[in-house]
Amino acid sequence: MNAALPQDNAGAREESLRMVSANTIGSESVSDEELRPSGLDEFIGQPRLKAQMKLFLNAARKRGVPPDHILLAGPPGLGKTTLAMIVANELESPIRITSGPAIQHAGDLASILSSLEEGEVLFIDEIHRLPRAAEELLYIAMEDFRVDVVVGKGPGASSIPLTLPRFTVVGATTREGMLPSPLRARFGFTAHLDFYPRDEMCRLILRSATVLNVHIDEDAADQLARRSRGTPRIANRLLRRVRDWAIVHDLRNVDVDAVEQALDLYQIDVEGLDRLDIAVLTAICGSFNGGPVGLNNLAAMVGEESETVETVCEPYLVREGFMVRTPKGRVATARAWRHLGLTPPDDVNVLF
Ligand code: ADP
Repeated sequence: MNAALPQDNAGAREESLRMVSANTIGSESVSDEELRPSGLDEFIGQPRLKAQMKLFLNAARKRGVPPDHILLAGPPGLGKTTLAMIVANELESPIRITSGPAIQHAGDLASILSSLEEGEVLFIDEIHRLPRAAEELLYIAMEDFRVDVVVGKGPGASSIPLTLPRFTVVGATTREGMLPSPLRARFGFTAHLDFYPRDEMCRLILRSATVLNVHIDEDAADQLARRSRGTPRIANRLLRRVRDWAIVHDLRNVDVDAVEQALDLYQIDVEGLDRLDIAVLTAICGSFNGGPVGLNNLAAMVGEESETVETVCEPYLVREGFMVRTPKGRVATARAWRHLGLTPPDDVNVLF
């Protein structure tokens, strides 16, 4: 599901333009739908999480009651919405979908809650962005299956308690730390989604290729996996662009060559770094001798807003060991120097 981007957020704006963005871009949420696995067995990777979820859902089914509320936490594009839909499918329950930003007043949530059916799954994406009053209403509904409906306005207003059927909230968040602890405590099961290793990404790409009717060689899928930043949404997007390449060049099979040429065209290199990532590393190594360099200087050097560099580039560069953040500023690692085809200076961050 698309994580709605704040309009005044430079990082989010830039992020939405990138091929390697983990958020949905353009009309992609429609294509996301066609690639969504519908059952746990089809969901690729995350084996521990899948085993836990299977047990949890089976137990609820055997007990004949809706399961406890479920929290799905992790970066965008890793499968939280997909899992929410799978929960409903596995329970053969209807699902209602909303999100923190879509609920502007507690009343919006009250009207959704009061129309739920017994056993229904209520998926709340970006649950950390619920307004405070709605959050408080949700605590009570999740715990006591009750909502107080306010009737009338001003001094004459009265509140009527309404008993709700048993339902299951599936909350998704990219910022678990922003959830108030009383809300977090209402979830009986929390799943943390992690970036996917290369072999799982490769399996995921092969599955998506089958769904999209794209013939792709296994080593080509592996190359695509390598450039997909451990994120299924990015892998599926790159696969579609590679498919375009194959169609235009009348290729029956997508091979390694096609992957390399298509992604070179989009300036995504073998490690999944794009133009902005490379500009950042080049600035640290070329202009600041590897760092440390302060965020603002770095952003000025690459002509971007600090927030863009901080939220869009850094997380992946740090995770992949191209950059470290120190109290004095950003430092390029030896891996970054080598990736740029440069020799790291002898005294540069031997620790990394
Ligand atoms: P999120 O809600 O975490 O942003 P989504 O659930 O919308 O991510 O997933 C993004 C895309 O990646 C969807 O098209 C989905 O089908 C695909 N996807 C995510 N995780 C998996 C997985 N484990 N197996 C297969 N496809 C996946």
